[in-house]
Amino acid sequence: MSAFDDLMAFQRQTEALAQVAGRLGWDQETVMPEGSAGQRAEEIGALEGVLHARRTDPRIAGWLEAAQATDAVGQAQLRQIRRSFTRTMKVPAKLAEEIATTMSLAQGVWAECRAREDVAGFLPTLRKVVELKRAEGAALAAGGDPYDALVDDYEPGMTGAAIAAMFDAMRPRLVALREKVLGAAAPKGVVGTFGTEAQLALSRELATVFGYDWSRGRVDLAVHPFSSGSGHDVRITTRVSETDPFNCFYSTIHEVGHAAYEQGIDPSFALTPIGQGVSMGVHESQSRSYENQLGRSGAFTGWLFGRMREVFGEFGIADAEGFYKAVNRVHPGYIRTEADEVHYNLHIMMRFDLERALIRGDLQAEDLEAAWNERFRADFGVAVDRPSNGMLQDVHWSCGLFGYFPTYTLGNVYAGCLVKALRAEIPGLDGMMAQGDVSAATGWLRERLQRHGGLYEPRDVVRRACGFEPSEGPLLDYLEAKFGAIYGV
Ligand code: ZN
Repeated sequence: MSAFDDLMAFQRQTEALAQVAGRLGWDQETVMPEGSAGQRAEEIGALEGVLHARRTDPRIAGWLEAAQATDAVGQAQLRQIRRSFTRTMKVPAKLAEEIATTMSLAQGVWAECRAREDVAGFLPTLRKVVELKRAEGAALAAGGDPYDALVDDYEPGMTGAAIAAMFDAMRPRLVALREKVLGAAAPKGVVGTFGTEAQLALSRELATVFGYDWSRGRVDLAVHPFSSGSGHDVRITTRVSETDPFNCFYSTIHEVGHAAYEQGIDPSFALTPIGQGVSMGVHESQSRSYENQLGRSGAFTGWLFGRMREVFGEFGIADAEGFYKAVNRVHPGYIRTEADEVHYNLHIMMRFDLERALIRGDLQAEDLEAAWNERFRADFGVAVDRPSNGMLQDVHWSCGLFGYFPTYTLGNVYAGCLVKALRAEIPGLDGMMAQGDVSAATGWLRERLQRHGGLYEPRDVVRRACGFEPSEGPLLDYLEAKFGAIYGV
């Protein structure tokens, strides 16, 4: 066996074990018995220990030194392995261990403090997490910008400066759009009670419509919807609110977007380093394309309106046009995860500036609440009423996920580019979607982007799919055209 073959065989077992660890996480959020939490923590800890030992195995350095790739796929495999091995080796073992222990406890502290609206109680934990992530960022950056190093974990090749430039270009147009829309009359929402079983049946139908492969996946209920796994086992979760059916339907379509990406990757890449989505931003570009650009389009909501009337009868909306407006209602609110397409990116920009300042040491943890509230008032025009609607609302910072937030907006930006490109190539798309057929769009995304997995770098795979350089322009054009028409502004 060559060094390349040895390395790939070793890596394949690591990838398989990582999938097992992920499935334990899925189990914990869906069907695990309540009394099993303690034992599960030990099981996951043991598996993580095995994974860490494999990822830092000294033989990897030698294999990487000697391995020769004979084609582009092999080169991409080596690039991914080298990136992750170099990253792991840059962080001192003691720091890595302290980060793992602190983050596992911090999430529990955050949840308790959020429930009690207790910022002061969370501050010592936040201070510790920021300190550790700054240390990790510094170790990874080796003299460069620690925040860039943290961003690179989720979006290889992206930097804080590039994100800041993109956000600066977006903010004025989003703020102007937001003000125009909020000055116009708000459309009517749906009214009534929508039974759980009927919602779940229709959400399964939506998953099928958007190309979810049920032979390699399943849908369960969880508090927070997510997608889990790669290759031939990609599961999703959804949730149900009996007064807000869009919550279930659009959570499902969103997670199907993530899952379809994983299921759409070239099967020969399964259980290899390039056998999963290439970055968080590209992943989010799929979920946002499915959920917003396609799922909330006038053509598709026309079909969904018909199906909902068949299933639920009357629910206070007269016609497909009113339904399209209800699905796309713009409403100012405190919570990012409930934000509409006009507000969503403003939430992200605010978090990006604050977390970058925290990591750079320009903002201290004890000043975060004031900074958050001041910025929220400036960007959203209202005062935050309580911490769970403010700086305690997201789990990310307690888990040490600094550098993650901007990938959500990057996903929206990439989705804007991808759907612009696919619409130009599929002229009859709206006619098909009005019949509940989105296969031309999802097929295009699979062929142009999803199947490549980690073969190309994130920005590169989007550029190749679109045939033009990705930028924020198409997303902003789309938002202005769509919401300008809905609100007549
Ligand atoms: Zn997502």
